[in-house]
Amino acid sequence: MDFESFFRSELDGLRREGRYRVFADLERQVGRFPTATYHGESGPRDVTVWCSNDYLGMGQHPKVLAAMHQALDGSGAGAGGTRNIGGTNHYHVLLERELADLHGKEAALIFNSGYMANWAALSTLAARIPGCIVLTDALNHASMIEGIRHSRVEKHIFAHNDPADLRRKLAALDPSRPKLIAFESVYSMDGDIAPIAEFCDIAEEFGAMTYCDEVHAVGLYGPRGGGVSEREGLTDRLTLIQGTLAKAYGVIGGYVAGSAALCDFIRSFASGFIFSSSLPPAVAAGAIAAIAHLKESPAERERQQDRVQALRRKLDAAGIPHLENPSHIVPVMVGEAKACKAISDELLARFDIYVQPINYPTVPRGTERLRITPSPFHSDADIDALVAALGAIWARDGLKRAA
Ligand SMILES: *Cc1c(COP(=O)(O)O)cnc(C)c1O
Repeated sequence: MDFESFFRSELDGLRREGRYRVFADLERQVGRFPTATYHGESGPRDVTVWCSNDYLGMGQHPKVLAAMHQALDGSGAGAGGTRNIGGTNHYHVLLERELADLHGKEAALIFNSGYMANWAALSTLAARIPGCIVLTDALNHASMIEGIRHSRVEKHIFAHNDPADLRRKLAALDPSRPKLIAFESVYSMDGDIAPIAEFCDIAEEFGAMTYCDEVHAVGLYGPRGGGVSEREGLTDRLTLIQGTLAKAYGVIGGYVAGSAALCDFIRSFASGFIFSSSLPPAVAAGAIAAIAHLKESPAERERQQDRVQALRRKLDAAGIPHLENPSHIVPVMVGEAKACKAISDELLARFDIYVQPINYPTVPRGTERLRITPSPFHSDADIDALVAALGAIWARDGLKRAA
């Protein structure tokens, strides 16, 4: 086989569809977020970033940076091993305590990413609980899908955020078999929020475990940033809460929180936990500082919500179509891959605005979009510039307006 020409022709296929991924080469700068230096073909220039998942700018927070500097200078660069063999640093232990406290759970377990946390926890639980059946929301994240697939257990996909469909599917299954229900709280692409209480009611009725990915909610919702489950008083009813340290907490890493036995079980049986070297101590220290700060300080969350509302109002006034939702995610709908990429390219080239186009397979075909994430640091002037740029493109290209 001519491997090289195979690779190239597959990539050409992506390009023809307008969904070949081009990474924006960005140099983030402490103190200037959401401004970053974009290294493009015509040299470096400043752009305003509108699609960062560093939702609250914690990636540059002085407390986070100070904690990381201190741990780096004190404990060195890497952890030095897997958790089991020399790689458990005191910062890891403190971080797991901090996370358990955040979610009001007995224990927590950290992973090198949120992706790995989902993949390892779901595949381990599903595969190791004898006869387990997984019920999974139709729009669950790739990391959950891959973890469930790897377990090779029987699975049923229920309609997105639809308790009635979940109930129907559960009712049709053998009552004696153990079941796990997997869903997210805030869905990252549409920004809608799961009916967690109803899912918990159903789970209790059928004796199922609940597994909730709060990646896009931790740090952002609840009085201490414990996520939607904290805001709605549901932490006790979820068997397992999964989260990331890389989005609102601004660092890197993922975790699960739950009972002591549950976390110990995953710790003891999950390959993706056992056989991978642990996070650098400085990363754990930075995450602790970010979590601790956001437990005490609602200011960032409040300012973010204020910026989200301001952007939505201005998009509405300009007739730019965006998905209504109860979260901080503002999806501006385009509906076609090439157009979506072209708008993103033009925003960057002409307006110094960076919003990555979101195309298939991240979202279904026909729902291609610009996923905009306002932060506490986006000014009124930033919002005006974004809406004016979108307005100019929408007017020139005769794009569909909101009603
Ligand atoms: C980003 C994301 C993850 C993975 O988290 P990382 O820490 O980035 O690996 C998991 N679930 C959802 C819903 C996500 O959006």
